[in-house]
Amino acid sequence: MAEQSLNRKRTISKDKFSHSLSLSSLSLKKVSKESTQNIKLISSPISQDTISKKKNLNLKQFEYEVSKLNFCPIGSNSNFAGNYDNYLGTTLSHIVQMRNIKFDYALESSSIYENYPKKEMENISSSNKKILVLDLDETLIHADFDEEFENDKTNKYDAKVSFFSEESCSNNKIYDDNDNESTLTDDDSKDYSDTKVLSTVGIFLRPGVKKFLEEVSKYFEVGIFTASVPEYADAVINYLDPENKFIKFRLYRNNCVNVGDLLKVKNLKIFKNIPLKKIVLVDNNMYSFAPQLNNGILINSFINDKNDNELSNVLSYLINYILPSDDVRKVNEQFFGFKKIVDDMIRNVD
Ligand SMILES: [Mg+2]
Repeated sequence: MAEQSLNRKRTISKDKFSHSLSLSSLSLKKVSKESTQNIKLISSPISQDTISKKKNLNLKQFEYEVSKLNFCPIGSNSNFAGNYDNYLGTTLSHIVQMRNIKFDYALESSSIYENYPKKEMENISSSNKKILVLDLDETLIHADFDEEFENDKTNKYDAKVSFFSEESCSNNKIYDDNDNESTLTDDDSKDYSDTKVLSTVGIFLRPGVKKFLEEVSKYFEVGIFTASVPEYADAVINYLDPENKFIKFRLYRNNCVNVGDLLKVKNLKIFKNIPLKKIVLVDNNMYSFAPQLNNGILINSFINDKNDNELSNVLSYLINYILPSDDVRKVNEQFFGFKKIVDDMIRNVD
């Protein structure tokens, strides 16, 4: 066995585990007339003929159609305080382009339900409470896969979480089938394909996240819908809710609809028997709720900001506006107006 580079540093691809393409403090502001006027259609729209006549696409056909769309999604790291109009304008202009693709059919005809948590869903379906769906990365926590803050003494992680996967991380320990521990080497003759790897990542908690989960779970059926992989996401969720008291369901990357190679979309129709008027999704990524814009609450991306106060803003919005509403979509539309912006864009380009 080659001895060189024991303990080699292997670079982890963040996207292998979490999905935070791009990403900031919307501060839950009502969209003003001025801000919608400032929003410009940044990409040129596709022609009506390109895809609008296509119906009943299966997932493969759907992905192919999406791959032909001519835009490059922007990362949620662009969703930061002060950049609201730009972020919204660009992402919504992309959503205009995606509008004719049959999200619903693609979802229903796909294998997305393969990993569907049937029992958890049955439990929340029978509840009278509204459903609060929460994104994980950059909404509730930030995981420092890039190890940007690994040695930062003034910005220490709130926690480190570990998880097994077939992917590797720096400082990996690997385990064979008998759980014997060894270290990754550069010996290329060894096949690691069936090897479990223990990865560890430092995380920052969004200020107030634990209190937020405790509070919202009094009024809503709360769950996580993340574009990250289960191994990593479960480690974080188990840390946030160790006694399993607040989070009632978990949906992961394999429950998302892929839009091209880059976008993971969360189609809320996955909550089969629950009417959309009862479901709200808090997410820092606009593309996540592209199929149901009025069900989304866009929160700015959290990276590592101890002064961040967004969860408290979201909490008061949820309690004061969403909770008493008959239809969450009407309240969101009144407050944020995403659908109106899209409708205006369409009117301007058609
Ligand atoms: Mg996110």
